[in-house]
Formats: sequence, C-alpha cells, structure tokens
Amino acid sequence: MTFRDLNLSNPLWNALDDAGYTKPTTIQAKAFSVIMSGRDVQGIAQTGTGKTIAYLLPLLKMWTFSKLRHPQILIIVPTRELVVQVVGQGEELTKYTSAVVKGVYGGTNLNTQAAEIAEGLDILVGTPGRLLDLGYHGALNLKIIKKLVIDEVDEMLNLGFRSQLKHIMELLPEKRQNLMFSATITEDVEMLISEYFNSPEKIEAAPSGSPLTNINQVLYRVPNFNTKINLLELLLAKRADMTKILIFVSTKALADELYTNISEKYPDKTGVIHSNKDQNFRFNAVNKFQDGSFRMLIATDIIARGLDIEDVSHVINFDLPDEPQNYVHRIGRTGRADKKGESISLVSDLELDYLDDIQDLMKFIVPITELPDDLVISTELTDAEIPKIQMKNILGKLPKVKDDSSAFQEKKAKNKKVNIKVRHTDKMMAKYGKKKTRGQKKK
Ligand code: AMP
Repeated sequence: MTFRDLNLSNPLWNALDDAGYTKPTTIQAKAFSVIMSGRDVQGIAQTGTGKTIAYLLPLLKMWTFSKLRHPQILIIVPTRELVVQVVGQGEELTKYTSAVVKGVYGGTNLNTQAAEIAEGLDILVGTPGRLLDLGYHGALNLKIIKKLVIDEVDEMLNLGFRSQLKHIMELLPEKRQNLMFSATITEDVEMLISEYFNSPEKIEAAPSGSPLTNINQVLYRVPNFNTKINLLELLLAKRADMTKILIFVSTKALADELYTNISEKYPDKTGVIHSNKDQNFRFNAVNKFQDGSFRMLIATDIIARGLDIEDVSHVINFDLPDEPQNYVHRIGRTGRADKKGESISLVSDLELDYLDDIQDLMKFIVPITELPDDLVISTELTDAEIPKIQMKNILGKLPKVKDDSSAFQEKKAKNKKVNIKVRHTDKMMAKYGKKKTRGQKKK
C-alpha cells in the first residue's frame, strides 16, 4: 500500500513526496478512513509509529478555507518540544495549501504569541497551560474549532493537566470531532474519554505497552554505579556502531553528574537536557544531537518524551525508570519508522523490582548479556549504595489474616510479593539516598 491508495489530494500527495514518505505506517493506514468518517477516535500509538501524520493527513484532507482565520483544528500536546515537532510536520504537509499552522507554549512571551494569533491561522498546536492563558486573555477564539486532537493523553494526565484540559474543552463548541492518542490506556485516560468522547472508535498501532519489534533489547546486570560508568565508557570507546546515543537517567541531578563524567572524555560530543535547562539550551542540545554534532545526549524521561530525533542508533538506560511505561517510551526513541535500533539497559540489584514491572508490562523477558571481560568492576560504592539497616521500614506491616479460611484465595505468585510492602519513598531512599515522588514531578 502507498499513500496514493489513500483518497488524499494533490497538495498532500506532493507534500508527502517531498518529505520522502511513500508508504503509510500501520497507524496511518488504519486511522485514515476512521478519522475521515467523522467519528471520535481513540488511538493507541507510541511516538515513533507515525501517529502525528496519522491524524494530520485526514484532518488536512477535510480542512476547508475559512475567511475568519480562527483555528479550526486544535492539537493539544504535553510539551513545548512536541509543539515544535507537530508544527514542523504540519508545515511540511501544508506547504502546497493555504492552511497556516502555528504553535504556542509556555515559557515565552504571551503578548508575542497573542499578536501572532491575531494575524490569523487555521491549525493551532499548543500546550494546555498556554492555550488556556491565551483563551482567558481573549487572544484566542476557539469558537470555530471543528477538530480536537489530544496527543500523548497519558503523559498529559501524568503531568497533572487534567483540569486545564477540562477548562479548554469548556471553551470549545460542542459539535466537534475528538481524537486522542495515547501510548498506554490507563484508568485516567479511560475516564477522560468516557467524559468527553462520543463512543470513540479504537485504533491501535501496537498493543498497549508492547515494545516495537525492531528494537533489539540488551540488558547488563551491573553491580553498582561506578561500574555502570566504567561499562558506559567501555561501550562508548569500543562500539563504533553506536553513532547516535540517547542516554536516559531518572533524575536531573544524575543527568548533570553523568554529563560531567562523560563530557570530560567527549567534550564536544556530549549534550544534556532536563527541565532545569532553559528553552534555548534545550533546543540547542536537541538540534546538535539531531544534526550529528553530539554523539550522546543525556536526558531525563519527561523531557525526552515525544522527542522525534531521527536515526537514534542506541538508547542506553543508565538506570531503569520507576514507571514501567517510561521504559517503553525510552526505547521507542530508537528503531523509529521501521528502522532497526538497539536499547541497552544497565541494571543494578536495587532496580530489580523495576525490571520485574517492566517485563510484566511488556510480557517479555529481556535477555541478560554477559559483562565484557575487560570491564573494570568497581567495589567503590556511592552513598546511596552503602547498605543501610532499614528493617523497620522494609518489613512494614504484615497483612491481617482473615479467620474465615474459606474466603481466603490463593494469590498469584506475582502478587504475593506485595505482602511485604516496601514503600515507594523507601525504595527511592535506597536508590537515590533521597525522597523522590512518583510520576507527578517535573523532570
Ligand atoms: P511520530 O510517531 O508521529 O512521532 O513519527 C515518527 C517519525 O516517523 C517522524 O520522524 C516522521 O517524520 C516519520 N514518519 C511518519 N510517517 C512516516 C512514513 N509514512 N514513512 C516514513 N517515515 C514516517
């Protein structure tokens, strides 16, 4: 099947030709007729599956010029980086039409963006907070919105954007087509859909939580942090095929620490991004990684989510994320658009619970690769790794046993382990030597 088999238009076919896209990806092929039918749509697709073009193509096919120059299509995404990317793909596809695509996001001057909107536009891409500010400011007229896309809904809800989304929906006309895309369907996502969507049709690029099959997953069991550093250095020195490497870590502090370490050896080849870096620094780091000036980019989860960087050869999980879905998102940065990719995870004993959760989610056991013979195993532990006696916390409360044995049900082996409850904070204390919140925190 090629894009010529979809009932598009010459301007769209020509734009696709220019961009070098010939064959629709699975989600693009599946989404087209469903979106064209005008129904609400619930799409399950990770970044890397081509989901942006999957919703842009039918929406652009259905778009017609309006003299009002208020947006008719609204696309809400969780991060500024994603705004820039979706606008980029929108501009690419609309180059032979008169449709104008614009993007708005926080951290930049509100009045400048209001002035740009006043000049007129057709398709608006934005982050929830900034869209609301502009709506309340009176700069944005959302009254002729016909199509609403909420992209990366799961991430949006993780970041606590639920009430902003609700307020934005209140500003929209009731009669509209709703599309949402999410990598995972959580209870929160289901709730949002049942509240605002009208019996949506479900389309799926890959089952929720399943990693893309063109990613070769490798796992090293590494005793401690310093050995992880040694292994990373060894891989960087030996593996010439590792040309474009995205290195993930769980915290900003660790990102900075690792950057200091790696950039000593590779000063002009290493970049770092996390939410404490300002917008220009972030764009600059991503651009240098994109164009190949940087071989390595060290990143935290939230900031790298949805980033569309071409030809990432390797994703390295310097540590495992505490949210299993984030593992799937991380490794999905490589092996994009049907290319081959490799992910390498460095896993210490303290992270084995995370590994269990990830493997449960994927329903896949990542094979363990033997450590290289020339790896120097460090015995020097970091403060966080020195065992602390935390018996009280670790044991916690034993569960109450019911007297009525007939009501007792044997738990599955997997669930039995929750009988000894280790609090999240204690796990994080053991891992990082400090408290770390789950999910909500901006990384
Ligand atoms: P997305 O999942 O929307 O973030 O897209 C992932 C990447 O795939 C982007 O770089 C797109 O430019 C690229 N892409 C999207 N559709 C196609 C296609 N049909 N053929 C080749 N590349 C594509």
